Amino acid sequence: MLSHYQNDGVELRIHGVVQGVGFRPFIYRLAQEYQLSGSIANTGGESVVIRIEPPVCNLKDFLDDLKKKAPPLSSITKIEQQKITATGQQGFVILPSETKQHKNVEIPVDTALCDDCLRELFDPSDRRYLYPFINCTNCGPRLTIIASTPYDRPRTSMKAFSMCKDCRKEYLDPFSRRFHAQPNACDTCGPKLTWHDANGQELEVESPIDSAADALSSGKIVAIRGMGGFHLAVDAASTEAVDLLRKRKGRAAKPLAVMVKDCSVARTYCHVSDDEEALLRSYQHPILLLKQKEEKKLAPAISPGIDMLGIMLPYTPFHHVLFASPLLPEAIVMTSGNISGEAICIDNQEAIRKLHGVADFFLLHDRDILTRIDDSVVCKNKSGISIMRRSRGYAPSSIKLPFKVPDILACGAELKNTFCLASGNSAYLSQHIGDLTNTEAFDFYEESVKHLTALFDIKPDMVVCDMHPDYLSSRYAQNSSLPIIAVQHHHAHAAAVMAEHKLNEKCLAVLLDGAGYGPDGTVWGGEILLADYKEYKRLAHLQHLHLPGGDIAAVEPWRMAAAACYMATGELKKEIIDRWSPAISADKTTFLVEMMEKSLNSPYTSSCGRLFDGVSALLDLRLTSQYEGQAAMELESLARQAISLNRSDHRISGNESVLPVSIDMSGDIGIIKSAQMIETLLDMFHHGSSSSQLALEFHFWLVESLTATLKEVCADLGKKPVLLSGGCMQNGLLLDRLVSRLNQEGFQVFSGNQIPMNDGGIALGQAAIGGYRSAASPS
Ligand code: ZN
Ligand code: ZN
Ligand code: FE
Repeated sequence: MLSHYQNDGVELRIHGVVQGVGFRPFIYRLAQEYQLSGSIANTGGESVVIRIEPPVCNLKDFLDDLKKKAPPLSSITKIEQQKITATGQQGFVILPSETKQHKNVEIPVDTALCDDCLRELFDPSDRRYLYPFINCTNCGPRLTIIASTPYDRPRTSMKAFSMCKDCRKEYLDPFSRRFHAQPNACDTCGPKLTWHDANGQELEVESPIDSAADALSSGKIVAIRGMGGFHLAVDAASTEAVDLLRKRKGRAAKPLAVMVKDCSVARTYCHVSDDEEALLRSYQHPILLLKQKEEKKLAPAISPGIDMLGIMLPYTPFHHVLFASPLLPEAIVMTSGNISGEAICIDNQEAIRKLHGVADFFLLHDRDILTRIDDSVVCKNKSGISIMRRSRGYAPSSIKLPFKVPDILACGAELKNTFCLASGNSAYLSQHIGDLTNTEAFDFYEESVKHLTALFDIKPDMVVCDMHPDYLSSRYAQNSSLPIIAVQHHHAHAAAVMAEHKLNEKCLAVLLDGAGYGPDGTVWGGEILLADYKEYKRLAHLQHLHLPGGDIAAVEPWRMAAAACYMATGELKKEIIDRWSPAISADKTTFLVEMMEKSLNSPYTSSCGRLFDGVSALLDLRLTSQYEGQAAMELESLARQAISLNRSDHRISGNESVLPVSIDMSGDIGIIKSAQMIETLLDMFHHGSSSSQLALEFHFWLVESLTATLKEVCADLGKKPVLLSGGCMQNGLLLDRLVSRLNQEGFQVFSGNQIPMNDGGIALGQAAIGGYRSAASPS
């Protein structure tokens, strides 16, 4: 088969994640093993080119080995092979990178410390013993240190450090694990840690790490400069320290992430399955949401009202050295170093200025961070991984689209914003930006759009944004002077799941979230659509509720409870008004009912998130929220209590709902009625049913209502794949049960696994829709 290469050479073009991951030295070593002459070069695009001089022997074995032994961080998507004429070159060489920019570069992601480096880090005979910035081609910072592409040391923040003799030797040695490892460094030549007081004044200490461990053990708040930005750290077991951190940071109740030394410590606090352990230890090292154990608890303020705990393992060498210190508490809070709502700090001076009054000490280093990137947040459910925040370790690796698109900037939504750049078959979702209503976060947005556009060399021909005219991301699009496509919020949610799973057909989509702009003047958020990339049709939605007061209803669940009662019974019963008082005064509730009667500032919404809020307040769980989604998360936790108390064991695997399921498909658009459900729920609560049991019944009701509606619409349309997305689908109890019920009914179900189902995934759907439409209509 390969005889035609006897006199000719062969060129192999390898596509995929093959740059910045040690691929060239790997090929070099493999070529030596096979005694091949030729070369390998980075192309600047997402490929490398290997040229092999004749005679080309054992090409099949060579390719097999290449695929089998490729470096851990690489992934090969395609290998192209063609005949070339011999040049007579002897030996194998690695050619320098071309500096010319190419489309479709893969920017390598920041990676947790590898096992080889970990071993060296704690080997007293190694020259990098306890060096907090040890790294190699298989691990270390990437995106966060890249100024421009192609990825080479002079175009990273490591250019400030000139390598010592020993480091240079490794860097130039193709047989070293540090061959062309751009952040390569050691204690002699590389970045260093320093210890500073609350004013940023450097303090002379023997070991900044021991000082940090000591401060943490005595309840102090330490700002730590990490890989993608600052963390604020405190002893996670100390109630006073955690309370103080919340107070100073202005973060009332939103759960805080915790770092522990290893999986065995994680297991003392949480249930950890084998799959979850693999996720914790993956090269991304995300924050993983785990079910807490009853027997051992951290400070109560870590995740009040929530039965899950966000845990991550040490991922930089510095973290490992810190955890090796005997002084360090067993678990430390590691939360983003910012004031609530703002972007994470990356610069030393910026942090000293902004975190003044928050941190008692600063642990700084001098390796500049060029891209802000938060820790990623993921969880494991029955349908796979669900990514809540796609950032460090995941962004900006590409997602392959099922069709080609022009250069596009998709601007995303408003909360949990990410944006998406796309070109050809590749889409690059940005790291988590955050809530754009905050000015600082909006600066971060603009800065990131500029930086990533340059890194990927994408010059947008068009911008895509949400239909909501007042989202700052939509305004950003309007100011771009490029052609704009505005996409309906839930259509984008659906398209993101389609794009992730490379579907290209009409699908049914169940989209449950807090709010999205509806073209009919109502606020959407509990939708069943029939959609492809081109268009969508609204088939059904959750029954309308008033949204009394507009946006404020999202943080005051009692308003939604009042709206739900009003819808179900036409009034708000005195017993409820009395129950809420004095937290919510009777005057306030009466006024709210008047608002709804007169339709004053009370638009209609089909939002599922708001229905969760309403139910939560009706069950006396939460009347006002301290952060977005709090009431819904607490309701989910409460429902899980009913499961663990075995009260509903006999029904867990069933498909019945105690709360009445009622759908009205008589009109053009189907209505999933919630009125009877609310009435029954109130009645059962009044007659002594427990709030946890009713929280669980509400979940069951929702699953059965959605399943019944899908079955109805399929009676006309025939079976179609079902997409699940929207922020409410991050509720693991809801998602798992809905998936298994739909599977039971014979539906093929797709949900977001690699892409957030909350608004952090919207931009991918926007890019896919925009790209599809522009390709469909010749310009
Ligand atoms: Zn390493
Ligand atoms: Zn060195
Ligand atoms: Fe949404």
